[in-house]
Amino acid sequence: MAVQQSSKVTWNCIRRLANAALMLSLGTAVLAGLGSGRSGRVQDRLWTASGAASAHRAAGPSQGPPVVKITPLGSQAGDLCRDDRALLFEDPTGLRVLWDPGRTIDGGTDGRLGDLHVVILSHAHTDHIGDRFHQPADGCGGNAAGSTFSQGNLAAIAAAKNSAVFGGGEMADFLGRKIQNIRGTATPGCAAAGLTNELTVPLTAPCTAALRPGGSRTVRLSQASAGVKFVVVPAFHSNGIPSALVDTPGVAPNTTGYGGSEVGFVVKFTNGLTVYLTGDTGVFGDMDTIIRRFYQPNLVVANMSDMVTLGPDEGAFAVKELIKPLTVMPSHVNEQATDSGSVRSGTRTRRFIDQMSGSGINIVIPLSGVTRQFDGTGKCVNCP
Ligand SMILES: [Zn+2]
Ligand SMILES: [Zn+2]
Repeated sequence: MAVQQSSKVTWNCIRRLANAALMLSLGTAVLAGLGSGRSGRVQDRLWTASGAASAHRAAGPSQGPPVVKITPLGSQAGDLCRDDRALLFEDPTGLRVLWDPGRTIDGGTDGRLGDLHVVILSHAHTDHIGDRFHQPADGCGGNAAGSTFSQGNLAAIAAAKNSAVFGGGEMADFLGRKIQNIRGTATPGCAAAGLTNELTVPLTAPCTAALRPGGSRTVRLSQASAGVKFVVVPAFHSNGIPSALVDTPGVAPNTTGYGGSEVGFVVKFTNGLTVYLTGDTGVFGDMDTIIRRFYQPNLVVANMSDMVTLGPDEGAFAVKELIKPLTVMPSHVNEQATDSGSVRSGTRTRRFIDQMSGSGINIVIPLSGVTRQFDGTGKCVNCP
């Protein structure tokens, strides 16, 4: 695929260090325009970045239309790596949401987390719930253990942050027990008031709740006038709870605990951004009917990798033929997808990008520590 243009621009990467708001900025970036867009739609473009990091002060109150900030919390700053799954969302109201912590967050003490009001989980597999923190010295492609989490990384994070935890299937009680094992007190169910099943945060203790397809919950910061809506949609994968996380008396050797259904999420933010998080899944027809026609996501985070989820060809088909958002982020790529922020040749990620050519759908590569800002239409407003 021909790169039509390349220009140097600057862009920002916001990270929260403890409770102090600091902004990290990554230096130069490369914008590559790909193909031609459909009539009436934004030309499809690929946003990646490269450059060295430098630090400076945080921005003041945001200007212009409200945006949702999305920051990947991956293995290596500025790249998309093998283990990367975790995304941190910040609504314009300040509500902060973590998706699938996995193995690239160092428990509840990871300085990138800051306040964390909600944690959502697709399924219990170890690369999502998090059995360990990867060995940082391994860099982008490694998978060896650094820290380990006897109750799972998600429980460690939620216990430290007093987060509300939403999961599908039978995960609510299971995760509540994992959090209880850390804190020593029972984990309550999350409140759900009124017609929108509203929970007000911040909380003084974590809670867990089940969400099953067709249902929804809304979470609102106490000082905010609007909340963020969370919906669960089907996924087509599996959801066995790793035996190492099943409390005594455990399960038979080489079997997993029953976790119920694996899920994807649709999250509707207060500025109108509607994100479909596929979770691990194959292609299914309801992506076209229920998810596109009813929930109308304008940003898709597509888990696509190799043998256990959407492959790059299937992922591209699902996004451009079934879901049809304005923008897509490929994730869960199970490879070192980028080198200094640029997509490497011969990768599945490159294959996905090539398959998306001419679709009119923007592609944003989720680079660890690089905060992208999205308006209510699904457009990235600070991509180069
Ligand atoms: Zn899985
Ligand atoms: Zn996975």
